[in-house]
Amino acid sequence: YQKAIVKQCHLPAETVDGYRLDVCANIELAEELVQVKDNGGQGVGLYRTEYAFFNKKKMPDEEMLYEEYTTLAEQLAPGKVILRTLDVGADKLLDEQAMLEEANPALGLRGIRFCLRYQNIFRMQLRAMLRASVHGNVSIMFPMISGLKELRQARFILNSVKSELDAEGLAYNPNIPVGIMIELPSAVMIADTLAREVDFFSIGTNDLIQYSLGIDRTNKHVSYLYQPLHPAIVRSIKYVIDAAHKEGIEASVCGEVASDPYCVPILMGMRVDGISIAPQAIPGIKRIIRQIDMEECIELLGDVLTHATVSRINTKVRKRIFKRFP
Ligand code: PEP
Ligand code: MG
Repeated sequence: YQKAIVKQCHLPAETVDGYRLDVCANIELAEELVQVKDNGGQGVGLYRTEYAFFNKKKMPDEEMLYEEYTTLAEQLAPGKVILRTLDVGADKLLDEQAMLEEANPALGLRGIRFCLRYQNIFRMQLRAMLRASVHGNVSIMFPMISGLKELRQARFILNSVKSELDAEGLAYNPNIPVGIMIELPSAVMIADTLAREVDFFSIGTNDLIQYSLGIDRTNKHVSYLYQPLHPAIVRSIKYVIDAAHKEGIEASVCGEVASDPYCVPILMGMRVDGISIAPQAIPGIKRIIRQIDMEECIELLGDVLTHATVSRINTKVRKRIFKRFP
């Protein structure tokens, strides 16, 4: 039975009534590419670049990163790879951050904030990403964007790095798509404005749940409150997808929610353009997508949106989905 699911994983993620979405993988090492392919991933929707910076005796240099990103681009082409710029902080600390001694690192200098402070690291990484972009279908994504100013600062630096490469005669894709993670409540609320200045959104529900519900994602004492189907989360995701579509850009989901069989049909009801999940979750989720139809998903979403409590939503969803996929 398990074998049959894996065998079918190379078929497109298309519903019974012909709605197709991108199913990509979240990975952190180039070695995981084999798993992405074996499990039927169409590309990499989230490459967590921080791992090259950890467990290393020294900081990686531009050439090392260029090689790593080029391998990904080449092996996945024509499939895409979305390279997320360094997202250190909170549970993943570099020496620079350890020195900061923040009381609340999750609310501190993490993600894009760190990169805007330590621009030499950011610029080096952007140079490597841009140079790798000529070897495949590469996009750049910024994490932890909280407002328009941060996005503009990051884009300003990206443009300045492009000019630098021009001056040195180094090749890159001048039209490289640039997207952002939507993982802070502030970004949700201004999604319409942000959508006008980027090529795509990727909704990071792991952090969005943490910051919206005020729950440390690593704290076991409050893990019972970590509820993906909290009405505030459902509405936030829908709001972001609608805002993206109004501005003509795509929105996908790259948090754990997208690998939850109970949540995927709801995301589909919102007309999500893609999902990016752990490679081993791809076959099972593709199977669900291929057996469901859009009408069903839209109806389910409509139903979910009428309920005010998580328990009601959970009961509804479980009943419906479980009936279909026991
Ligand atoms: C997220 O926040 O949902 C996400 C995908 O990114 P990470 O888990 O790396 O923070
Ligand atoms: Mg995140």
